[in-house]
Amino acid sequence: MKAAVLEELKTIVVKDVPDPICEDGDVIVKVHACAICGTDLRTFNFGHRNIVLPHILGHEISGEIVEVGKNVNNFKVGDTVSVYPAIACNECDWCRRGYQVRCENTLQIGDELPGGFAQYVRIPEKGVKNGSLIAIPKNMDHKQAALAEPLGCVLNGQELSDIGLGDTVVIIGAGPIGCMHAMLAKAQGANKVIMADIKDERLELAKRVNADYYVNSSKENLLEKILEFNDGRKADVVIVACNVTKVVEDSLELLDWEGRLSIFAGMPKDNSMVTVDANIVHYKDIKLVGSYGSTYWQHVTALNLIKDGVLDIKNIITHELPLEDIDKGLELVRKGESLKVVVIPW
Ligand SMILES: [Zn+2]
Ligand SMILES: [Zn+2]
Repeated sequence: MKAAVLEELKTIVVKDVPDPICEDGDVIVKVHACAICGTDLRTFNFGHRNIVLPHILGHEISGEIVEVGKNVNNFKVGDTVSVYPAIACNECDWCRRGYQVRCENTLQIGDELPGGFAQYVRIPEKGVKNGSLIAIPKNMDHKQAALAEPLGCVLNGQELSDIGLGDTVVIIGAGPIGCMHAMLAKAQGANKVIMADIKDERLELAKRVNADYYVNSSKENLLEKILEFNDGRKADVVIVACNVTKVVEDSLELLDWEGRLSIFAGMPKDNSMVTVDANIVHYKDIKLVGSYGSTYWQHVTALNLIKDGVLDIKNIITHELPLEDIDKGLELVRKGESLKVVVIPW
C-alpha cells in the first residue's frame, strides 16, 4: 500500500510499504479520509514521546472495513466506520470510569500504532472489542466523519468547563480547533461567542462558523471589546486555543465571577510555565480547567452531532489533498492559512 512515512523529523516520504496483516480478531480499514491535526505537525517537527521513527501518523480517520480476522462478529467487510483512536486496557479503574485516555496502558492509533496517512490501517483485536470502530451510515461523508475525533476532544474541553445556556464564551485562537469550539459552544446554548486572533486572514476564514463577534487582538483591546459586546460584563468562559503562554496569563483578566479558563492547547514543551494572579482566581471564584483527548462516548456524541447536522462541520474543511501532497498539507497547517486539511489516500 501507499503510506506517508515520517522517516525522520521534518521528512515525510510517500512510498510503498507492506500492507498491514489482519491477525485473528483484527480489522483492516481502507482509509477514505484522514485529517491533519495540529499534533501531527508538532510530531513532524519535534517528535513525540511515544513515537519511534519511522512511523505513519494520522489519528483522525474514517473509512471502510475491507478485511476482518477470525472471531470478529460485530463488524463485517463493507461496514463504514469512524475510528476512535485510543485503544485502552478496559481493565483499570480509569477505563472502567469511561476515561480511556487516562489509562496507563493506552495505545493510540497514529502514536504507538501506525496511523491513517496510508491506504489501510489495522485496528488490533483489543480496539475492535473496545470501541475503536464506530459504525457510520454508508452515505456519510468520510471527511466529515474523520472530524469526530477532534470534535470529541473539543466536547471534552467544553464539558469540563461547564459551557452552557446563556454563557459568554471567548475563544482565543481562530484555527480549526477554535472554530469547532465556536460551533459547539453555540450548540450548547452559549449566548455570545467571541473569537479572537492576531491574524486577519485567520479571522476571515473563521467567519465560516458564524461566531457573534471577531476581534483582532493585536489591533484592538480584547477586554474592551468583550465589555462592549457583552453589556459591560466580562466573559463566563475563555478558551485558549493557541499555544501561547502569555495568552493564558492575560486571559484571567477577561473573566467574570465564577469564570472558567480552559487551557485547551498544549504549550511548547520547553516554554510552558505561566504566572497566574492567584488573587484573581481566589477572590473571583475562578476555575482553571485543563483537558486532553476525549472519551469513547464523547467521540460517539461528536459523530452524532456531525451526522445529524447539529454542527455544519463541512464549513471548516478548507482543503482536501491526495496522500502525495501531505507535506503541502502540513505546510498549510503550519502557516495557518487553512482550517481543516483532510488527506484522501485513494
Ligand atoms: Zn487530533
Ligand atoms: Zn485502562
